[in-house]
Amino acid sequence: MSYVSEQLEALRAKNANQPEFLQTATEVLTSLEPVFDANPEYEKNAIIERITEPERQVIFRVPWVDDNGKVQVNRGFRVQFSSALGPYKGGLRFDPSVNISVIKFLGFEQIFKNSLTGLPIGGGKGGADFNPVGKSDMEIMRFCQSFMTELFRHIGPNTDVPAGDMGVGGREIGYMMGQYKRIRDCYDGTLTGKGTANGGLAGRAEATGYGIVFYAREMLKHFGEEIKGKTVVVSGFGNVTWGTVQKLDQLGAKVITISGPDGYILDEDGVTGDKIDYLLELRASGKNICSPYAEKYPNAKFFKGEKPWGVKADLYIPCATQNEIRIDDAKAMVANGTKFLCEGSNMPTTNEAIEYLQSNGVVVGPSKAANAGGVACSCIEMSQNAEHTIFTEEDVYKKLEAIMVNIFKQSVAACEKYNLGDNLVAGANIAGFERVAQAMLIQGIC
Ligand code: GLU
Repeated sequence: MSYVSEQLEALRAKNANQPEFLQTATEVLTSLEPVFDANPEYEKNAIIERITEPERQVIFRVPWVDDNGKVQVNRGFRVQFSSALGPYKGGLRFDPSVNISVIKFLGFEQIFKNSLTGLPIGGGKGGADFNPVGKSDMEIMRFCQSFMTELFRHIGPNTDVPAGDMGVGGREIGYMMGQYKRIRDCYDGTLTGKGTANGGLAGRAEATGYGIVFYAREMLKHFGEEIKGKTVVVSGFGNVTWGTVQKLDQLGAKVITISGPDGYILDEDGVTGDKIDYLLELRASGKNICSPYAEKYPNAKFFKGEKPWGVKADLYIPCATQNEIRIDDAKAMVANGTKFLCEGSNMPTTNEAIEYLQSNGVVVGPSKAANAGGVACSCIEMSQNAEHTIFTEEDVYKKLEAIMVNIFKQSVAACEKYNLGDNLVAGANIAGFERVAQAMLIQGIC
């Protein structure tokens, strides 16, 4: 039995009730087989055993009082997965689906994603099973303050630097930062994704989406195509979707769908110009996105409760959540003759769907690489805070673009080194892994 198979079996036995974590561990470790074959010192140093076991996992009670005076209790998490490359870095997700498996999957992916940026950041993730939908502003504030009243003791600018993720945007980061500052009595840039008035980075909100499109542009260029003129199906409606749609529009691609919890809209005229601003407005309202959009723009069709993967497109960019593309969706994409899928959300495609797409000639750009622009800009925000300075939006976008181009190049180089053809999923895993593994070897058994 190979080192990878043996370790996967052990992981399954140890984490039987963590399907999302096992899914990413299987995807990553399987693609690393050739690396372990070529480098026996990794097995000797138990790299898999160590990299799959978080350095620390904190689970805590988050009590808060709702607007009716009723006491509510949620479960909070912070998984500090790997500090081999720098302080733990990764977002906080507030969503009812959050549990230890989801946070471990996100934290594990973050190790490789952060490594791909080439910046000095380790991997971590956190969040709570709190549903921000329908909560008042004061409820959100009370929840965030209570969450930080426990989390503060585990984080710091050189220890662990949380940011946003699903359900956590500028508002939530602001409330958490306010509470952190109050308890710690220091304004040290421990959270990223802050508003610009709070030491946040200009352009951070759209950075993830812009980065995804830079990556997609490089991917298409590599295969002799250009992004301009392409028809694109996008899912989601949050920050990532917004930045993605905006940059696609700027580069001359035509986005024809977006989706929300209520379904998706198909707008053959293109989601462009003031429609993108309207999306932002809808999102801020905390209400459904698609039905009001279709009411305002009658040429757009609303498909209640459905996903957009059956719509024909040149490029698909899922930006909603994990496992939003399953085998039947992959089959529909192949039947529609697409050549490209670029993952925007974390792990949007099941392993079975990735295999199907790849074996039917679809190039898959993995989220670990494609959405790394968000965390890369978070790291730039950390240096802005540490230097007590302000970077311009222009500086940020220039750095972001260079980082995304470099991520794509590293992934292609890994494909060439290990004869993996167009398998950019494996290429990204390998490029991300090798930097972490080298750092682990240097640091001894820890
Ligand atoms: N939540 C984002 C991600 O999945 C950003 C993390 C960060 O900026 O630390 O990469």
